[in-house]
Amino acid sequence: MDFSNQVAVITGSARGIGLAIARRFAVAGAKVVICDIDETGVAEAAAQLSGGALGIKADVTSVDEVTALFDQTMKELGRVDVVVNNAGITRDTLMLRMKEEDWDMVLDINLKGSFLVTKAASRIMMKQRSGRIVNISSVVGLTGNAGQANYSASKAGLIGLTKSSAKELAARGITVNAVAPGFIETEMTRAMPDAAKEEFLKQVLINRPGTPDDIASAVMFLASDMASYITGQVLIVDGGLTV
Ligand code: NAP
Repeated sequence: MDFSNQVAVITGSARGIGLAIARRFAVAGAKVVICDIDETGVAEAAAQLSGGALGIKADVTSVDEVTALFDQTMKELGRVDVVVNNAGITRDTLMLRMKEEDWDMVLDINLKGSFLVTKAASRIMMKQRSGRIVNISSVVGLTGNAGQANYSASKAGLIGLTKSSAKELAARGITVNAVAPGFIETEMTRAMPDAAKEEFLKQVLINRPGTPDDIASAVMFLASDMASYITGQVLIVDGGLTV
C-alpha cells in the first residue's frame, strides 16, 4: 500500500498496537505523527520509525492537548489524512468492586478521548474534503465481558461514535470505521492472569494469539483507497474468537 504524501496521526502509539500501526504507515510512505501520554515513549518511538516521525506528547482526554496536537501537525506537516483512535486502557474488576474512578478513567480515555480527537481531526478533514478515521474498539464492545463493565461499555460506545460520525462526515469525503480486536499480545494483555488468557485462547479458532501487526493490517486496509466505499463498519479481527 502506498501512503506517500499522506499524514497519519495515531494516538497511543508509543508502544503496542499503536506503534505497530505507526510502523506500517511509515513503511508505506506516510508522514507519521506519534501521539501518546508517555513523553519518553513518544521520543523513542518516533526515532525508530523508518524516515523518522513527528512525536507529540498529548493526553487524549485534554481538549487543550488535543487542540495542540492538531495545531502542531498542521504547522509542521500541513494536512491530516488518517487518524487512528488507538489510545486505550483497562481497569478490570467485577462491577460490584469497581470504583467510580475506574469507570470514569476508562470512559474518559477510551471514549471521550476518541470523541475529542475525532472532533478536532474532522474540522481539518472537512476542509480537505477527504479523510479516514479508524477507531480501535474491541470484541468485548460487541459481546460484553465479566470484569470489564467499564472497558466493554467504552468500546461499545466507540462503535456508536463510529457509526454516528460516519453518518455526519460521509458527505465530506470522510470515512469512519472501527476495528474490533480479539486477544492481542501486548503489555495490556500481559497484565491478565494466565488462567484468563488460556480461557480466551481456547476459543480462538486460528490457534494463536493475535499480534499487533494483525490489527495494523486491518487498519491499513480501512485507511486505504481499497476501502473507499466502506464506512460506519466494524471489522472484527479476532482469529475466530467470537464466531
Ligand atoms: P498498550 O500496550 O497498553 O498501549 C496503549 C498506549 O496508549 C500506551 O502507550 C499508553 O500510554 C497510551 N495511552 C494511555 N492513556 C492515554 C492517553 N490519555 N492519551 C494518550 N495516550 C494514552 O495497549 P494495546 O494493547 O496496544 O491497545 C491499543 C488499543 O487496542 C487500545 O484501545 C485497546 O483497548 C485496544 N485493544 C487491545 C486488545 C489487546 O488484546 N491488546 C484487544 C482489543 C482492543 P501509557 O502506557 O503511558 O499509559
